[in-house]
Amino acid sequence: MRRSIKNLTREELVAWLTERNEPTYRLDQLEGWLYRKDTVTFQSIPNLPKTFRNELEKEFFLYSLEEVAREEAPDGTIKFLFQAKDGERVESALIPERNRLTLCVSTQVGCRMGCRFCLTGQEGFRRNLTRGEILDQVLLVRGAIRAQGRELTNVVFMGMGEPLDNYEESLAALRTLISERRLKFSHRKVTLSTVGLIPQIRRLAGEGLDLTLAISLNATDNKTRSALMPINHQYPLEELIDALMKYPLTHRKRFTLEYVVLKGINHSPKNAQKLTQLVRGLRVKVNLIPFNPFPGSPFQRPSEGEVLEFQAHLRQRGISTFIRKSRGQGILAACGLLRWKEGT
Ligand code: SAH
Ligand code: SF4
Repeated sequence: MRRSIKNLTREELVAWLTERNEPTYRLDQLEGWLYRKDTVTFQSIPNLPKTFRNELEKEFFLYSLEEVAREEAPDGTIKFLFQAKDGERVESALIPERNRLTLCVSTQVGCRMGCRFCLTGQEGFRRNLTRGEILDQVLLVRGAIRAQGRELTNVVFMGMGEPLDNYEESLAALRTLISERRLKFSHRKVTLSTVGLIPQIRRLAGEGLDLTLAISLNATDNKTRSALMPINHQYPLEELIDALMKYPLTHRKRFTLEYVVLKGINHSPKNAQKLTQLVRGLRVKVNLIPFNPFPGSPFQRPSEGEVLEFQAHLRQRGISTFIRKSRGQGILAACGLLRWKEGT
């Protein structure tokens, strides 16, 4: 059975090369072709001996995903649908902004967390993605847009799934993204968004990884948060904030708090006051995301005025607050609307 080459750890790759008596510089060559360039097939790699290319081809898949569909929204957001070797499908969204080109990647097929406002959460969990599958979303999209003369600038782990519920694979993918020898993204350009799994946040704190951490807060009291996000029963707000307090934020960094604004539920002046109290002593910025409705969802999207008002209340209290424009809505590529589906 062939394996995906990007699922091998560095040590495994070294061991595989050593078994074949390959010279040590092969590792760097291979890492270059696998991660720094947009290689399409093993056979297309020019500076490897033919016999070695054949061996690679016999043992490995170069990509563990294949693009099966692409859809562009009027605002320029592009949704990519990928299929894995076992037929499972995941989506990524490419979001162009003024001087950024951000890719939002999935880390699981589905999600176990069941947040009520999230389409992925409504459809249950199917499986974790491997590190190779997470990376291939980046590599395949990077290849596609480089062909148009553009470069990917940011990667956010904010697509389908909860990255910290797939800790090992998400972390391995992250390390590869920021590795000098591999994809070479700056740690400032890579963001992981989590629903707030406290043990994993504590573990992440000890990894010495300087990424940007986003937390999906979405409410300012436990009753509301538990009703929206079942995980809050297990990891309530005060404990979550405590874990963030103990997290070693590096110089000039701050947490991003994601806050889905649900009409009539979580954007009153009182909510602004409570949020301010909650984050006292923490370096944060708040991203307000107006709820993106989907068929059958029990919530409503707030008006622009309501979101602006909530932003103003938070700003008055000294919290830097931004409104995330909803992108790619027409094609269900916006936040929380990425989902696995059959067909397409
Ligand atoms: N599981 C992770 C990352 C994926 S969800 C997390 O929860 O953080 C990415 C973001 O989309 C989260 O901040 C979530 O709160 C938001 N989101 C989910 N459903 C949404 C919806 N219908 N409208 C707007 N934002 C949504
Ligand atoms: Fe999962 Fe995040 Fe959606 Fe919650 S918001 S169900 S954690 S993907």
